[in-house]
Amino acid sequence: MTTKPLPDLTPTGTCWCGCAKKTGAGSFFAPGHDKVAEAALLAAEYGSSVAQLLHGHGYGPGHSVSARAVAEGAWQTCPSCDYVGAPASIVNHRKKAHAAASATEQG
Ligand SMILES: [Zn+2]
Ligand SMILES: [Zn+2]
Repeated sequence: MTTKPLPDLTPTGTCWCGCAKKTGAGSFFAPGHDKVAEAALLAAEYGSSVAQLLHGHGYGPGHSVSARAVAEGAWQTCPSCDYVGAPASIVNHRKKAHAAASATEQG
């Protein structure tokens, strides 16, 4: 089993953090409010502890959540090292971590 089916969600025009602000077309959140909602969820359900969040979903030091993200196809592994992250993070990581190496190849 791989990808857990997620329901299709539709923006409603009101911020999903619960602040009742209007949002732009196609947006679930007012700017930055996705982070507010994420932090509020963590606080309300997990005592603001990411360790509790992970444990609550069956993850921890013996069951890597980042490996799961890669297995789900949501994240990727850097071709040059064991860094994992979202595709955009991989691009940034490769620029920072591996740009020096490729630059020295020219000289
Ligand atoms: Zn909001
Ligand atoms: Zn790398």
